[in-house]
Amino acid sequence: MTELESKAFYRAMLVEEVAAGKFDQSIVERALSCLPDNPVQVAVTHSCLNYKDALSAFGNRGVTREYPHTPGIDAVGEVLEDRTGTFHPGDTVLVTGYDLGMNTAGGLAERIAVPTEWVARLPAALSARESMILGTAGLTAALCVEKLLEAGASPNDGEVLVTGATGGVGSIAVALLAKLGFRVAAVTGKLESAEFLTGLGAWKVLDRETLVPFASKAIAKPLWAWAVDTVGGETLFNVIKALAYGGGVAACGMASGAQFQANVFPFILRGISLLGVDSVELPLTKKSAMWEKLAGDWYIGDQLEAIAEDISLEQAPEFLARLHRGHGIGRYVVDMA
Ligand code: NDP
Repeated sequence: MTELESKAFYRAMLVEEVAAGKFDQSIVERALSCLPDNPVQVAVTHSCLNYKDALSAFGNRGVTREYPHTPGIDAVGEVLEDRTGTFHPGDTVLVTGYDLGMNTAGGLAERIAVPTEWVARLPAALSARESMILGTAGLTAALCVEKLLEAGASPNDGEVLVTGATGGVGSIAVALLAKLGFRVAAVTGKLESAEFLTGLGAWKVLDRETLVPFASKAIAKPLWAWAVDTVGGETLFNVIKALAYGGGVAACGMASGAQFQANVFPFILRGISLLGVDSVELPLTKKSAMWEKLAGDWYIGDQLEAIAEDISLEQAPEFLARLHRGHGIGRYVVDMA
């Protein structure tokens, strides 16, 4: 029996409701018997932090219904056992999305147990750590870019706006679009991070406030050809109002809110498309194809290092609090070693 297989306990982040509406996050030792009864058990080597993990860690019942709970919507590691026989001990696998970290104990732990249908093989060209620099954020950014390309986006069309640009999805979208030759206008609430964004390939960096005056208009002057919106809320419709004829926005986020009010003018006067993006319930074959692309033609190796900050599991609660306040920059990789 290997050292990995013989462990009876594993470290995990645990979120507990300590008083009505008050949630506490700590790192605890848990018995293996605490894992859910799913066929694939994985020894997690790396995880990462996503906005949804921050929502789960701070008691958002739309993400996690019951506590105590271990968040973490992403994990990579080594298969210890698969009762279905699909994977073999020692296989390096990647799990992102589905119910992981929502109502199934998640990747901010040394062990996960998941259904086989959630498990993808790590592309050979990607290291475990790189896969978690990308994580769900990278997958989502790539799906947003793919949506724009499917809608006909080309670098010759004009600038592409990315909102929430210093965040996980935003920063990877900036790097990916720049790699594909697009001129990216990066919108941020953290102008002090402009150099970080130009380093990723942003053509220009705009203050979040740039979009605010559009709120009082039915439609705005066309400024951008395409957009990736990670922020949602009023920002999303402000972006739509300022897209040029025939353009579209890939909408994936809600960092500023889930609701937005709209009118029909951008749609019926300019033919704008609102393109929804989901990376969570996407069929595994499509997820795996996108991971291969991120490991291949869309590999953003140099930028990955600029985007990444490595942290320990013990630091996860502190960094999740940052994400919850919208203060995160880039991607936080959790090294379980
Ligand atoms: P991060 O926390 O890493 O980034 C969010 C960024 O949004 C912040 O860094 C900030 O960037 C900006 N922001 C935060 N609050 C506000 C605000 N009130 N108004 C305007 N901008 C704000 O999150 P992720 O990148 O992990 O996720 C981004 C969004 O995408 C989240 O809503 C998440 O739930 C969603 N998501 C959706 C997925 C899907 O499948 N559809 C998958 C993954 C994520 P800055 O300061 O640069 O403006």
